[in-house]
Amino acid sequence: MFESPEQLFERASGRLRMPPVAEWETFPFEGDLRPRALRAPDAAEPARNGEDASDCWRCQSGEDAALWSDERWIVTPLPEPSGLPVVVLLFPREHVDIDGLSGELAEALGPMLVRVERAVRSVGEIGRVHVCRWGDGSFHLHWWFMARPARLPQLIGSFAAIWDDVLPPTPEPIWRHNLAAVAHALASDGGTSHL
Ligand SMILES: [Zn+2]
Repeated sequence: MFESPEQLFERASGRLRMPPVAEWETFPFEGDLRPRALRAPDAAEPARNGEDASDCWRCQSGEDAALWSDERWIVTPLPEPSGLPVVVLLFPREHVDIDGLSGELAEALGPMLVRVERAVRSVGEIGRVHVCRWGDGSFHLHWWFMARPARLPQLIGSFAAIWDDVLPPTPEPIWRHNLAAVAHALASDGGTSHL
C-alpha cells in the first residue's frame, strides 16, 4: 500500500518521537533537545545543483580540482580541510546520476569503490572508511569517502559525518600529507595523480 508524502505528513506531524540520543556515546551534542517540527511536503522535488552539464561544477572544473583521475573517474578532495583526517569524493567523468550509469560504468563502479576505500585507508590509523552516496545537493553522481579515525569510539557510525564539522579542521600539512597518500595509493594501480 502506497503512502503519499501528504499522508505521511498527516500521520507523523505532531507524533514525532524523541530517541534517547543524549545517551548515545556517538551523538555529538548535549543539552535539551526536541525534534524539529515536520514541514508540510513541497509541491515538487526541488532541482539539484548542476542538473544541466553546462552549470555542473564537476563538469566545468574538469581536472583542475582533481586529486587523481583516469579515463572514466575523477577523485577530488574537499576544497579545504575538515575535521576528519581526509574526505574525498569519487565522480564518473560522465555527467550522470546513479540511474544514468551505462552498464559498463555500473560494472566498473564496484571495483572503483573498493579501490578508493583502500586508498583512503592507506593513510594509516583509519578505523573505517564510510562510503556514502546521498545525491540530494548536486546532480552529478558523487560518492563520499570519509576516513573515520581509529580508536576514538565516539566517532563510529553515521554521526561521523556530523563529527566532521564538530572536530576542528585537520592542520593543513597533515591534510596535504593524507591527500598525497590517497593519490599515491590510487596511482599505484593506474591513472594519474594530480598532486
Ligand atoms: Zn556534471
